[in-house]
Amino acid sequence: HHHVCHANAENVGAAVEQGQIQPEEIQWQGLADYRSAGGYGLLADCHEGRVSVESLAKELEHAGLRGLGGAGFPTFRKWQAVRAEPGPRYAVINADEGEPGTFKDRYYLERAPHVFLEGALVSAWAVEAKALYIYLRDEYPGLHRVLKEAIAELESAEIVEQGFVILRRGAGAYICGEESALIESLEGKPGKPRHRPPFVAQKGLFGQPTLVNNVETVYWIPRIHAQGADWFASQGRHGRKGLRSFSVSGRVARPGVHVAPAGITLNELIEEYCGGMAEGHRLLAYLPGGASGGILPASKADIPLDFDTLQEHGCFIGSAAVIVLSDQDDLQAAAANLLGFFADESCGQCTPCRVGTEKMLTLLERDTWDEQTLQQLAKVMADASICGLGQAAPNPVLSLLRDFRSELASQKLIAKG
Ligand code: SF4
Repeated sequence: HHHVCHANAENVGAAVEQGQIQPEEIQWQGLADYRSAGGYGLLADCHEGRVSVESLAKELEHAGLRGLGGAGFPTFRKWQAVRAEPGPRYAVINADEGEPGTFKDRYYLERAPHVFLEGALVSAWAVEAKALYIYLRDEYPGLHRVLKEAIAELESAEIVEQGFVILRRGAGAYICGEESALIESLEGKPGKPRHRPPFVAQKGLFGQPTLVNNVETVYWIPRIHAQGADWFASQGRHGRKGLRSFSVSGRVARPGVHVAPAGITLNELIEEYCGGMAEGHRLLAYLPGGASGGILPASKADIPLDFDTLQEHGCFIGSAAVIVLSDQDDLQAAAANLLGFFADESCGQCTPCRVGTEKMLTLLERDTWDEQTLQQLAKVMADASICGLGQAAPNPVLSLLRDFRSELASQKLIAKG
């Protein structure tokens, strides 16, 4: 039984990752198919005591699984933090996927919702959650239907109790992807981030300890258990562990979701997975982590794309939304576009972000940049904003001022030298 179950998660996962389960009219793998090869075997093993929380946590630790929504916190540690708090506890899946350039969660949900649901249910089991909430981006109406049907299948098969899995729709606000704002929204309030501490692991949904995980993070749990922690860990490159799903867009020949080793460099990703640059385009810059993760120059396309290395370069990988810019793109326009996005999406709760994003946008649209004011404003926003939106909003500008000085000078935005 165990072996079959292993083969299943492995086969489904491999088919999805190689793009063999196609999205045409959202043809997803149903419960019967998934189960007939042993799907939900891990969940049964968990519920029936054949797998313990401790042993599964050890597997995830060994595999090096980290939160793939952006923060990169080790998954087993999150379990421990939530389990250390007194119950009742909740489990929440962040399926808001609002970071510009990110579309990997959708990729898995529309092909293999049951692999995801099994991982989500295992996570809920790991913290003895009272209920599992899934907060789904409202711009994914097709996925809402898929998940509703998949959850109904689980209920009829009595794999989960009626009402244990609660599917909720967002309402189109980027900020609701921030975990504390997401929780406010789940509670029926406006999606405004909370001050920390307390962290959501301590006081989350309805004031109770809450485990919040990204879709892709839990997707990997049945896969890792099926193929082994060693297998997952060994997939990394340049000393990093695991696989990551890169959402690649922009000036490459083959954009899309590419499942590649964690720690791969941008040059390797473009050459080996994206068919090179789009014809007639030369790499100028790239955004390693959507709108929030900063901008890196072509000269830094040989550094490992991972949490720690990018931090040394003032950037972060976040949800691995890689946006590739070429010599035909305008850096000033790109930075203004990003700041316009943050200004629109700021929840308005704190002044450094609400006023700062608007102010920075105005400063960026000028023919010459006031570098000193930009730097000061960036510092205030980074230091004094409540949440990651305001803290990260100056990143594109700081990146340009750090790594693209000659380009800015040639556009006469800053002085030469
Ligand atoms: Fe809201 Fe921006 Fe403050 Fe975050 S930083 S709480 S988005 S105003």
